[in-house]
Amino acid sequence: MPLSPQQQAEIDEQRQAPQQTLRAVSSGMEKHLYKAQPVLDHGFVRVIDYMGDDAAICQAARVSYGKGTKSVQNDEGLIRYLMRHWHSTPFEMCEIKLHVKLPVFVARQWIRHRTANVNEYSARYSILDREFYIPAPEHINAQSVVNNQGRGGVLEGAEAARVLEILKSDSNRAYDNYEAMISQDGPGGETQDGLARELARMNLPANVYTQWYWKVDLHNLFHFLRLRADAHAQYEIRVYADAICAMVADWVPAAYRAFEDYRLGGASMSGKALNCVRRMLKGEAVTQETSGMSKGEWREFQEVLTEKSE
Ligand SMILES: Cc1cc2nc3c(=O)[nH]c(=O)nc-3n(C[C@H](O)[C@H](O)[C@H](O)COP(=O)(O)OP(=O)(O)OC[C@H]3O[C@@H](n4cnc5c(N)ncnc54)[C@H](O)[C@@H]3O)c2cc1C
Repeated sequence: MPLSPQQQAEIDEQRQAPQQTLRAVSSGMEKHLYKAQPVLDHGFVRVIDYMGDDAAICQAARVSYGKGTKSVQNDEGLIRYLMRHWHSTPFEMCEIKLHVKLPVFVARQWIRHRTANVNEYSARYSILDREFYIPAPEHINAQSVVNNQGRGGVLEGAEAARVLEILKSDSNRAYDNYEAMISQDGPGGETQDGLARELARMNLPANVYTQWYWKVDLHNLFHFLRLRADAHAQYEIRVYADAICAMVADWVPAAYRAFEDYRLGGASMSGKALNCVRRMLKGEAVTQETSGMSKGEWREFQEVLTEKSE
């Protein structure tokens, strides 16, 4: 369960105390504030705070005194121009602070994004909950045979059941031992010192959940989302990126539309690939052998021409 009834009550209470402000407010984002959006079996993403809106991006770009907006269409056009030309600093004027609950192996991928501020739950100080990510049966896949860094078809039958059973029993056994080690009650009912939490945690598997506050500006958030909402990203981090995408679409709708168009929906091409497109437009039947590209490049080029244009 992502939230306990007590945590939910705290969020409800916080949402019932609106305050007047002169700051920019995004009505789309207000509806997300504090609420937990469930992700995976025990995880969530929730917005703790944000700064700026679409207009703030334009104000920064124009270095204006007041609202500085000519019209909504002008703003959207300017935002698309900025996105198209990688003029990124105006997007850095918007910020978001998220509370994320996620499995440790997902956190290891996430933390590689260095351009954010992070504060993680301390498992030196606190006791971790008995919460482990156990994939839904449709997300237990075989190793991919075409991509070493990916998964293939869904495992079925006895093998799938065996994998699930191993994941559950190992997680529970590790947690039982974690509890036993930190406990001041020994196995025979005698008292014991209890192992330090900072040491006992090393025995927990990477599917245990952790939590952090993660603050990032919109430019670097888009960079994160472009990599992690991509079809090639691992499913378990992609679902978090997808949940954040939905929030950003409500927060800064014009900026998100530009991001969706130029970054998520668009593709960059090498000089060789672009040259192939030009030759194809002139009617030439270009093949991998005549393209000057490697097999891998050619396969990805074909994917761009087919999947992305659909
Ligand atoms: C599909 C996929 C597979 C991956 N596989 C692996 C893997 O096998 N092994 C592995 O180790 N990692 C892997 N990664 C992680 C990847 O290499 C990056 O570490 C991660 O995506 C963060 O990207 P970033 O550095 O651009 O982001 P951020 O750290 O947020 O940085 C954003 C941008 O800021 C600039 N920047 C930040 N810090 C510096 C710096 N110190 N010096 C110069 N410029 C900086 C860069 O322009 C950078 O692009 C993978 C990522 C993806 C999406």
